[in-house]
Amino acid sequence: MKKKHEDSKLDIQSLGTQTKAVHAGEPIDGLTQASSPNLVMSTTYVTDPKVAFSAEIPEDAAPYVYTRWANPTVAQLEEKLAILEQTESCLALASGMAAISTLFTYELQVGDHLIMSDIAYAGASELANDVLPRMGVEVSRVNMADLEELQAAFRPETKLIHMENPCNPICRLTDIEAVANIAKEKSIKTSVDATFASPMAMNAASLGVDYVIHSLTKYIGGHGDAIGGAVLGSFVDIEAMRQVSIRIGGILSPFNAWLIMRGAATLPIRMKAHEANALAVAAFLEAHPAVKQVTYAGLESHPQHELAKSQMANYSAMLTFQVHGDGQKVAEQLAEKLEIWHYAVSLGHHRSLIFYMNTSDLVGSSFLLSEAQEKAYRDFAGDGIFRVSVGLEDAEDLCADLEQALKL
Ligand SMILES: *Cc1c(COP(=O)(O)O)cnc(C)c1O
Repeated sequence: MKKKHEDSKLDIQSLGTQTKAVHAGEPIDGLTQASSPNLVMSTTYVTDPKVAFSAEIPEDAAPYVYTRWANPTVAQLEEKLAILEQTESCLALASGMAAISTLFTYELQVGDHLIMSDIAYAGASELANDVLPRMGVEVSRVNMADLEELQAAFRPETKLIHMENPCNPICRLTDIEAVANIAKEKSIKTSVDATFASPMAMNAASLGVDYVIHSLTKYIGGHGDAIGGAVLGSFVDIEAMRQVSIRIGGILSPFNAWLIMRGAATLPIRMKAHEANALAVAAFLEAHPAVKQVTYAGLESHPQHELAKSQMANYSAMLTFQVHGDGQKVAEQLAEKLEIWHYAVSLGHHRSLIFYMNTSDLVGSSFLLSEAQEKAYRDFAGDGIFRVSVGLEDAEDLCADLEQALKL
């Protein structure tokens, strides 16, 4: 029998998104004809002494030498993600934070200036506030929804603008294309952490950004069982960044790559189901007497809903709500009474998650906001928000569980 993989003419780029998610990066195995991807856990590869370590060898003659440099399973995941995000290249790393810190290490050096969203994932905020200044990088935190505030922050040394969209935890949006255009005029690079959006919500590269970041731990892996991260962008930048990452060493485990690849195959249909459930839960919460405010990009009540409509093909399933009265007390009640929802951090899993974030605590520890920025934060979050990651259970069950747990 002629082996099937030998005559594959599949032009993946011409296919639909669901087909890409299933097949990209997953060719039939040449040796065994295995239909599902192999998991290659080997740390080292038997090499030909004549070609190993020679800079002259063509890529395909001896592609794998040592797994910190490159691994077949990780490479398969990288190919799938680059095709889904519509970028030339992808670098997969040990976590979302490894992706962010590798990007910063690659782009920034002593004397450079970073402009970063004032509200961003707490770990990224703490990296920018505490670690980068020790390495001689100055950081300005800016409300990216306010382009005048952004314009005022530029310096001759500004090297990179780092956005997060929608931003964690308040679900405020940034006009990515507007920021990318401003940056391009000044020859400054841009990155966006699109973890909340997933590659299904927006195609950041087509909006003009240089780098897209994902915590693979969230929607792309999608099942809450593997931590990983990725930076995506042009071939030239990502391959140069790969050289930096090999030295820093925060590589993705092949096992996690294999799990995340399985999750990524169903990303397009999961995101449709996530969005439908989030719309139902958001509508339920908006009508609930205990709830003061719901913030969800997919609701007309979101202050930037028009931007969401033009920028997002899928509203994802991250939302927040505020309650009347003492949020901390309600958090304790929900943690005790909820049966289906898990009271836990993290997001993007098939399982619904909820977590309370007190504004004073966050503003005092992670964010270090100016007075105006804190006011803008409170417009979205009041004294505290429940951060909600709507999962893939039945919407009726999710709403009924919230209903019984919110009863006094
Ligand atoms: C979770 C998260 C991260 C960090 O990802 P890890 O995989 O936990 O390191 C970064 N950015 C955003 C927006 C996140 O939600």
